[in-house]
Amino acid sequence: SEEYLDPLLYAYMSIATGTVFSALGYAIGRREHIITDLALTDGLTGLYNKRYYKTRLEQEFERHIRHQTPMAIVQIDLDFFKRVNDQYGHQAGDLVLKQVSKLILEGCRKNEIVARVGGEEISIIACGSSGEDTLNLSERIRQTIEQMTLTWQNSSISLTASFGIAIADGTTQNAWDIYQHADEALYQAKRTGRNKVCVYEG
Ligand code: GH3
Ligand code: MG
Ligand code: MG
Repeated sequence: SEEYLDPLLYAYMSIATGTVFSALGYAIGRREHIITDLALTDGLTGLYNKRYYKTRLEQEFERHIRHQTPMAIVQIDLDFFKRVNDQYGHQAGDLVLKQVSKLILEGCRKNEIVARVGGEEISIIACGSSGEDTLNLSERIRQTIEQMTLTWQNSSISLTASFGIAIADGTTQNAWDIYQHADEALYQAKRTGRNKVCVYEG
C-alpha cells in the first residue's frame, strides 16, 4: 500500500497546489494593477502625473485636429502657497495641496484630464468643452477653493488659486502652444491680482 499514492492524498495535493497557484496569480495581477496606477498618477494628490499628461495632451490634440472637437487647457496655480508652508509647515502644505486637488477633481467631468504638472500647479485638459463651459468650470472651481477652510492643529487654513485658460482655435500648431498660452493667461491672472480666471486672447 506504500507503493502508490493514496488517491485521497493525491486529490488533496492537487487541490492545495491549484489553490496556491491561483492565489499567487491573483496577487501578481493585483500588484501589476497597482504598479500601472503608480506609473500614471502622482503619489501625493492622486491626480495624473506629468508624464501621463504629456501623452494625453498630444493624443487629445490630434483628436481635436482630426474631428474638430473643441479643446481647452486650464492652468491652475495656488496663490502664495509658500506662505502656507512657512506659516504652518510643509506637512500642512501637503494636506492643503491634497485637499485642493480633490476639490478640482470633483469639480471636473469624467472626460476632463486633471494632472499635477508642477509642485503646486495643476492642469486640466478640457476635451470636448466649449470656451464658455471651460470658463464656467474654472470659475466654479475657483470659488470652491476660495470657500474651503482646512483645520490644521489649532488654526484654520484657507487660500486662493489663479487660473489661466487657452482655447484651441484651429490656428494652433501644436498641443504645447495651447499649454504655453494657458500659462501666459495664468501669469496675467497673477499679475493682475490673483484669485481670478484669465483667458488667453492671442
Ligand atoms: P504665487 O501666488 O506667485 O504662485 O506664490 P507662491 O508662493 O505660490 O509661488 P512660489 O512659486 O514662490 O512658491 C511655490 C511654493 O510651493 C514653493 C514650494 O515650497 C511649494 N511647494 C511645491 N510643491 C510642494 C509640495 O509638494 N508640498 C508642499 N508642502 N509645498 C510645495
Ligand atoms: Mg503659487
Ligand atoms: Mg507655482
